[in-house]
Amino acid sequence: MNPASVGISLQACAKHYERGRQALHPVDLRVEAGETLVFLGPSGCGKTTTLRLIAGLEQPDPGGRVLFDDEDVTALPIEARRVGMVFQNYALFPNLDVRGNVAYGLRIRRLPREQIRRRVDELLELMRLRDFADRPVQGLSGGQRQRVALARALAPRPRVLLLDEPLAALDAQLREALRVEMNALLRGLGVTSIYVTHDQAEAMALGDRIVVMSQGRIEQVGTPREIYHRPANLEVAGFVGLLNRMRGGLRDGRVHAEGEQEIWFRPEDARLLPEHEGELRGSVRQVIFLGDRTRVGVAAGGGATLWADVPGRVDVAVDSRVALRVAAEALLNPAAKPR
Ligand code: ADP
Ligand code: MG
Repeated sequence: MNPASVGISLQACAKHYERGRQALHPVDLRVEAGETLVFLGPSGCGKTTTLRLIAGLEQPDPGGRVLFDDEDVTALPIEARRVGMVFQNYALFPNLDVRGNVAYGLRIRRLPREQIRRRVDELLELMRLRDFADRPVQGLSGGQRQRVALARALAPRPRVLLLDEPLAALDAQLREALRVEMNALLRGLGVTSIYVTHDQAEAMALGDRIVVMSQGRIEQVGTPREIYHRPANLEVAGFVGLLNRMRGGLRDGRVHAEGEQEIWFRPEDARLLPEHEGELRGSVRQVIFLGDRTRVGVAAGGGATLWADVPGRVDVAVDSRVALRVAAEALLNPAAKPR
């Protein structure tokens, strides 16, 4: 762990904006020193607001407190909190070259010139930007800009790194590549990091823990596995992956169509079988080729379409009769047995 990084506590932090409804209901949250915590939720759920409270760009409503370790920083402005921020558009200074951007936070702190040069060189090296040091930032690729933004945020040795949808503006392929890079980087740095995204795959890949938010509230806090396999409620279950819902029953350790129990499961937990070999029988509605797997929609479960993800290729025709088999252990309902 990075010795300079701190744990963060939010205590009863709520936020009303002057004109608008309540952006954040009172939130209590503990971020461990050195961990990468992801805020995940749909647009408008309060992720940026929470991040800005931690940064010191917003004040919580009276009564709310923000602590860095044991220090109450609620009244401190952003300059006094020693946080590094990375935004969606990177907000690089277009009139400065790469070196100038990375040096910026050190210059405004009026550090000695030689010390600035050494620290900037260190970061250019770390971010593999040495060959671009004297280039203007306009000519850089999306990935290079991201690394400049990170280097700039890290240069003054922040106690906390705050990232607000840093990959959201990029195309899907680049986003996936940078997600891998970001993962290695955040793990290597050991700085307490809070990463905001509305993309569940990104959240899964990056978070030591994920905070799922909805409408200004925290729905669940947990590791990616906990969130995915043991969602606290329907909101979370549906947000972090495709969810099958049906009414049925459990018999001999399997899901059956007969019954009134609410049943949730993921598509990868449904096996696709010939009609007379499975419990949930129906006609194929849709076949979607996804490259590494095929997603098959079956009209079973009382008319609702249930989805099964089959690894690799599958030869099944629309309108043919099939059956799905789902093991009772695969149930996601919060009341079901944890796994
Ligand atoms: P997210 O980052 O999850 O998309 P935000 O935290 O930006 O969500 O916004 C949460 C809610 O607060 C939204 O309803 C948004 O419209 C509102 N909001 C955000 N900033 C302001 C502001 N400066 N003034 C008024 N309302 C705001
Ligand atoms: Mg936002």
